[in-house]
Amino acid sequence: MRETDVIIVGGGPAGASCAWRLQRHGIDCLVLDRARFPRLKLCAGWITPDVVRDLELDAAHYPHGFLTFRQLHVHAWGLSFKAATTQHSIRRYEFDNWLLQRSGAEVIQHTVKTIELQGDDYVVDGAYRGRYLVGAGGSRCPVFRSLFRERFPRVAALQTAVLEQEFEYAWQDGDCHLWFFFRGLPGYAWYVPKENGWLNIGIGAMSAKLARHNDDIRTYWQRFVTMLADTGMVLDRTLDPKGYSYYLRSRSDIPRVGNAFVVGDAAGMATRDMCEGIGPAVQSGLHAADAIAGVRDYSLQDVSRYSLPNTLLRRFIDRRFTGGA
Ligand SMILES: Cc1cc2nc3c(=O)[nH]c(=O)nc-3n(C[C@H](O)[C@H](O)[C@H](O)COP(=O)(O)OP(=O)(O)OC[C@H]3O[C@@H](n4cnc5c(N)ncnc54)[C@H](O)[C@@H]3O)c2cc1C
Repeated sequence: MRETDVIIVGGGPAGASCAWRLQRHGIDCLVLDRARFPRLKLCAGWITPDVVRDLELDAAHYPHGFLTFRQLHVHAWGLSFKAATTQHSIRRYEFDNWLLQRSGAEVIQHTVKTIELQGDDYVVDGAYRGRYLVGAGGSRCPVFRSLFRERFPRVAALQTAVLEQEFEYAWQDGDCHLWFFFRGLPGYAWYVPKENGWLNIGIGAMSAKLARHNDDIRTYWQRFVTMLADTGMVLDRTLDPKGYSYYLRSRSDIPRVGNAFVVGDAAGMATRDMCEGIGPAVQSGLHAADAIAGVRDYSLQDVSRYSLPNTLLRRFIDRRFTGGA
């Protein structure tokens, strides 16, 4: 049996941030991830200045592609405007691997199946024992399933369905574009260029609203790529997008249960206006580490439920996406 202070299930931004902070506190931890890193993670790879700050990421020394946008092109109901802002893009394939390696934690490729509480310790698959357990395994996290789901069930109205593709492309337009409520979509579509000639395009929507209108997200995808081709933004590509699903932030947060925590997508932390998940994953991972170190109580109150600074706008989008759920 391998013994450690903290077992972290999942090595994405939530798990890697938690491991990084635990190492700084001098606490031994082990990261179990079913994937071998670097691994593919479906994500547009947009990160905010808050993420850069929380991770103490020095863009000048980041060893991979890192692109900064000074404006966003926002399109809605046939209108377009440019919003002055500073945002960034990375490739998750590179970023997540870099974060995990930087954490300094031991990482073992292992698919977690069973979790037992034996005395004061958590035992994973009969092979790993730890006093603390952190579930950072994304929307289908086994820690959430085993220890949290029954008491804190997912809210169906907060589930998103997402389709995206990232590919090498000699983009001409180096700005990020967002199309809100694209052709009636209960969500938004995006065009996110990356450094070194990569591009991510995608479309995300609230699953329950799509189902209610008998809509299929693939229909919107087809309309979206047709529009990109018609406007010359993406030409001569046969695309084969992949899908994923995750949850927006609920009105009530999931607390720690004993010495077990869920963070990031496992805790349903994505913002209610922009479906931004990386920043909340990082912050919740750091908070869990600080709680384990005993430097603060575990609370997610100071992790923002929203990405947008404008209160009216974020309330409006939240209402349209979640119906207030
Ligand atoms: C298409 C798409 C686009 C997105 N775009 C953005 C964006 O541009 N910006 C943004 O901020 N957010 C975006 N998000 C959301 C963001 O990707 C997630 O919120 C974020 O990745 C959550 O990080 P995490 O560490 O909680 O989970 P993940 O990054 O999903 O990591 C979970 C890890 O757990 C591992 N795991 C799962 N099950 C097991 C198991 N049984 N045993 C062991 N390991 C396991 C997985 O292999 C994975 O490595 C997007 C999401 C999607 C789907």
